[in-house]
Amino acid sequence: MKRKTAIVTGASRGIGRGIAIELGRAGYRVTINYAGNLKAAEEALELVTEAGGEGIIVQADVSSAEDREGLVARTLEAFGRIDLLVNNAGVAPNVRADLLECGEESFDRLFGINLKGPFFLTQKVAGRMLKQDPDESGFRGRIVNVTSISVYTSSINRGDYCMVKAGLAMMTKLFADRLSQDGINVYEIRPGIIATDMTSGVTEKYDKLILEDGITPIRRWGKPEDIGRAVRAVAEDYLPFSTGEVINVDGGFHLHRL
Ligand code: NAP
Repeated sequence: MKRKTAIVTGASRGIGRGIAIELGRAGYRVTINYAGNLKAAEEALELVTEAGGEGIIVQADVSSAEDREGLVARTLEAFGRIDLLVNNAGVAPNVRADLLECGEESFDRLFGINLKGPFFLTQKVAGRMLKQDPDESGFRGRIVNVTSISVYTSSINRGDYCMVKAGLAMMTKLFADRLSQDGINVYEIRPGIIATDMTSGVTEKYDKLILEDGITPIRRWGKPEDIGRAVRAVAEDYLPFSTGEVINVDGGFHLHRL
């Protein structure tokens, strides 16, 4: 069977790497996108290959139109088609600042990388998917957006992050609707608290919240692999009659408890 192909943005480290490895296990050919950390991207490629997949590494800042163009072009050059786009790359504010004091620079940075980049990359990739022949299940492609529990959880010291993630959730619904007649399903994967570089600065705080206070009904940190397995379910077409769907991968954080 011909290998399917995916672009995973921000796949050098953390959640994106976990997703790329799981796609490797599913036999995918993966474009491992990274921003600046080539060594981490090379390690990720090795792990994807060990898992049974293939891949290429492409440096691109998703907030740059020129870089997004290059990312898609390099993928098509190498693989000829794109079966899956995973908009995973994302950043937290450099400094957590109170809502009454946070600045425009951080807002613009987060908006560019976490929302504008995924929007225009999706537009470009969906345009390409529309030109592809459907696969054996009738799919022209699938798109996954990695959001966060910050879509609905207020953190007043990183409001910019919460707002752009909420925007990304809306973006999922919009593309799901627009592409629903075209053999392209779109999903939102909503991680909880996952152990990566992004959360390494707040380990102590979350250790207490998770392990002592039980903020997540399942009392453990999430792992990149947890998100990877959810993406793999989409990649292997286990959710063919769902689109615009939110998949919570958060240890039950979203439950209201009494
Ligand atoms: P991470 O460990 O900090 O890794 C970030 C990844 O994104 C790296 O591969 C990085 O590449 C890449 N990246 C950063 N800026 C980029 C840009 N402008 N263009 C392309 N790639 C870029 O983060 P993570 O924790 O894995 O988070 C991944 C996604 O999950 C993000 O969207 C984040 O908001 C979301 N999320 C994370 C958590 C959590 O608890 N960790 C929870 C909910 C949602 P380099 O290696 O080259 O820097």
